[in-house]
Amino acid sequence: MTNPTDRALSRAERQAMPVALDVAVEIAKHNGVCIRPVILRRLDTHTGTTEDVNVPCGTTMEAKCPPCAKRNRYLRMAQCREGWHLDAEPSITPDEPTEEQRWLVEFRADMQAQRDAAEQAGDDTTDLDAVLVGLDEEINAAGMRGNLLGRTTVKRNRSTRRRQDAPDLPKRVRQNTTLGRTFTGSDGATYRPSLFVTLTLPSYGRVRAGQGVPVDPDAYDYTRAARDALHFSKLVDRFVQNLRRVAGYDVQYFSSVEPQKRLAPHLHMAVRGTMPRAEIKAIAAATYHQVWWPSVDEVRFEGEHLPVWTERPERAEPYPDGQDGDYLDPATGELLPTWHEALNQLDTDEDAEPLHVVRFGPQVDVQGVLAGTPDADQCIRYLSKYLTKSLGDTLDADNPAQRQHAARMTEALRYEPCSPACPNWLRYGVQPKNAKAGMAPGRCRGKAHKPEHLGYAGRRVLVSRKWSNKTLSEHKRDRRTWVMEALGLVDEAPDPHRYVWKPVPAGDGDVPSLALRLLRMVAERQRWRATLLALQEQASGQPTQDLSAMREAA
Ligand SMILES: [Zn+2]
Ligand SMILES: [Zn+2]
Repeated sequence: MTNPTDRALSRAERQAMPVALDVAVEIAKHNGVCIRPVILRRLDTHTGTTEDVNVPCGTTMEAKCPPCAKRNRYLRMAQCREGWHLDAEPSITPDEPTEEQRWLVEFRADMQAQRDAAEQAGDDTTDLDAVLVGLDEEINAAGMRGNLLGRTTVKRNRSTRRRQDAPDLPKRVRQNTTLGRTFTGSDGATYRPSLFVTLTLPSYGRVRAGQGVPVDPDAYDYTRAARDALHFSKLVDRFVQNLRRVAGYDVQYFSSVEPQKRLAPHLHMAVRGTMPRAEIKAIAAATYHQVWWPSVDEVRFEGEHLPVWTERPERAEPYPDGQDGDYLDPATGELLPTWHEALNQLDTDEDAEPLHVVRFGPQVDVQGVLAGTPDADQCIRYLSKYLTKSLGDTLDADNPAQRQHAARMTEALRYEPCSPACPNWLRYGVQPKNAKAGMAPGRCRGKAHKPEHLGYAGRRVLVSRKWSNKTLSEHKRDRRTWVMEALGLVDEAPDPHRYVWKPVPAGDGDVPSLALRLLRMVAERQRWRATLLALQEQASGQPTQDLSAMREAA
């Protein structure tokens, strides 16, 4: 390819050349513009016109490009700040679906249709499946409850026998409030103390200080590290349940899951209200989560000896478990138990042990924080520090010991079942939930197995429902409204039925190149910036922090 900056080319020749994508990407990044915009066709039902719109990737998926990730981080900081020291109960109304929720649901339906069409045509659906998973996460995050697909899941109630080493926790009568106690100082001022808690997983073997790599990799318990990471979010849920039981009020939190150098997830949590430090430590020590999954102690199938798929007889009614076939042992012809059969066996076995028990490590850090202090600001920055990074990103690629450590961790995760539907179950003689043809152990596409996630595939930010009055998209809208008002423009309340969104059909000739789309988005962003800058000069009395927030929001 010819280099566009080649001096031998005439000006006219240079201008005729397509914009190099990597150049456009750099310019977009520099301007804080999404570098992976999704192009969608928008029908305006008020005017009957259609327009192709570049939607930032951060709107549709959790995997975000760096500029979207950064913008998202600022939003999260605003959300964290707003909820931490609330002095009035948030009003929670079981809301009408918002525009964003409707959009997500409609968009998901469209994508599902595309995916099904691709499958019927015998095309690879991997990418579309990934989009659907992302959308489902986003839909859940948008606060919609209930199952969109109308899947019916059988709720299992397993008696969870309390382990003997769990200390008894005090239990207070639950007050119907989400606010913590306040204290009045001798000067009459009201203090609203809150907590900043850091929870860490246990040790899997000694690591070198500063590097996080095992002193003795052979003695390092990678299996345990892998399982702890896989089930970490369940442990966090349990911690919150226990916290609320002990606290005696409806404790609210904003937390982020972050990678440690040793590649284990750990948790920072802003908690509204305060409790004695010793109590938090006792709760962390008492908290555990048992994974009641079939045993993986015995490898039954590996190498060339793998279960084989066989179709069930066709019938009018779908089978209750939704499968239209089963895996069997090719040597004996014996059908492997389905996921539900395996769980039933586990339930009736009095001697069964959980596959895994996950607990926090002894390192628990609890800090008291007062509203509006520099301490609080620092904690908020800390909480959002790693949001733009994946667990595997903390890795120093030039450090061979760290690379090896990550490789061993990935290897330990390779055959660990990441979910009931993980194809790895076949290795242990159990059919994965919703089994279908073409599954093989070691070839799960689940996020948890990937080197960039290292076992933790959950959400990076966990926020309780009554943290602030607002969802993330409402925070986003707030900022927009603020900017519009500052500009003297009216930000009309959107009519949720105004637009109908559709994916642009693949191979549509009218769609400009990505490079061109990026440059157009940059131009738009620069027009905003110029207007804001002019405003900043006019309003010299304004705090600059707000104006920089405006620029972020724009
Ligand atoms: Zn983006
Ligand atoms: Zn898996």
